[in-house]
Amino acid sequence: MSEERRIYLDHAATTKLRPEALEAMCAVWKTSYGNPSSVHREGQKGRRLLEDARDSVANSLHVTPSEIYFTSGGTESDNWALRGLTSLVAKQDPSKRHIITSTIEHPAILRTCESLEKEGFRVTYLPVDQYGVVSHDSLEKALSPDTSVVSIMYANNEIGSIEPISELAAIAHKHNVLFHTDAVQAVGSIPVNGHELGVDALSFSSHKFGGPNGMGGLYIRKDLHIDPFLLGGGQEYGLRSGTENVAGAVGFARALESAISEMEQETLRLTEIRDHLIQTVLSEIPCAHLCGHPTQRLPGNAHFVFDGVDGEALLLYLNTEGFACSSGSACTSSHRDSSHVLRAIGLSEASSKSALRLTLGRENTEEEVLSIVPVLLKLTTRLQTSK
Ligand code: PLP
Repeated sequence: MSEERRIYLDHAATTKLRPEALEAMCAVWKTSYGNPSSVHREGQKGRRLLEDARDSVANSLHVTPSEIYFTSGGTESDNWALRGLTSLVAKQDPSKRHIITSTIEHPAILRTCESLEKEGFRVTYLPVDQYGVVSHDSLEKALSPDTSVVSIMYANNEIGSIEPISELAAIAHKHNVLFHTDAVQAVGSIPVNGHELGVDALSFSSHKFGGPNGMGGLYIRKDLHIDPFLLGGGQEYGLRSGTENVAGAVGFARALESAISEMEQETLRLTEIRDHLIQTVLSEIPCAHLCGHPTQRLPGNAHFVFDGVDGEALLLYLNTEGFACSSGSACTSSHRDSSHVLRAIGLSEASSKSALRLTLGRENTEEEVLSIVPVLLKLTTRLQTSK
């Protein structure tokens, strides 16, 4: 029986583990099982591997190793950053209990904000323009004397739009307000320089660029002494207890090194394929519209809505035709609710239920990416007429 041809176009959800990351992790599992907190030679070998991984991640993000904390992923980093920064400020000045974020954040930020609202914080959700971009003006206007933290994502996970993070962080700092960015979709895809960006905290996740799942990181500027997230044995400089995942950290660091060394070339390659895909879809499928910014978007992201088409049915048919795609965020793809991101850029409930996100990655060739276009034309025509 011949193997069915599958084309994976869902790299924003997760990516295939890079072979070099797998190899590095296997070497740790086979030979370096020592607990980094143990004093013996095996433990010290684990400690060295962990700290080398931290050095490498810090170097990749242009920050210092003592500013990097390993976590279980982007969700944990987002929860910790928001809770840690807001409570740090509230301890110094209890009147500062206002948070500013945007309407298009990942649920890891939105649900944490909702939980903080129940604990007495006030949250402003900044609107975005038709491309999903937060304006300097709206941030300026929302800042008030009780604002403690601003959290705006670096790049959106659904429509791929890139936010003007360094400008937004500078505005927050002008008002003595801390700034966090959820850079889960940015790190590994576009250059991220932690110190130059001028942010106080930055979340990232290993499985978005060919590292293992269940590993993430949080950068926190070194003079910010936030509360621990997990209490226990005092690992991760006393802030996140629990025996460290040495193999995970090693695979994470290795994958990030590879992603960064290939970035310039991959950005050119993916941007060209993405733009060709967008042009072809828009010219050949009359009911298609592009979502997100036309140029300020992640190199591998193409996101469309199709008039009169049920997005869920489209995804299922595409799956049977061999294409793995998504309607938007993987975290919400099992819910029938329309996307909060598409509603925020002004789409109707019906349009936002007709979405298709195609996110390209390093294994995709132009030929296989473009092979989706005739299939899309056939399926969207069928789904429109079957209404
Ligand atoms: N933030 C953004 C923008 C994301 O895209 C994701 C995952 O898709 C997360 C946070 C959560 O990251 P993780 O899956 O590592 O918990």
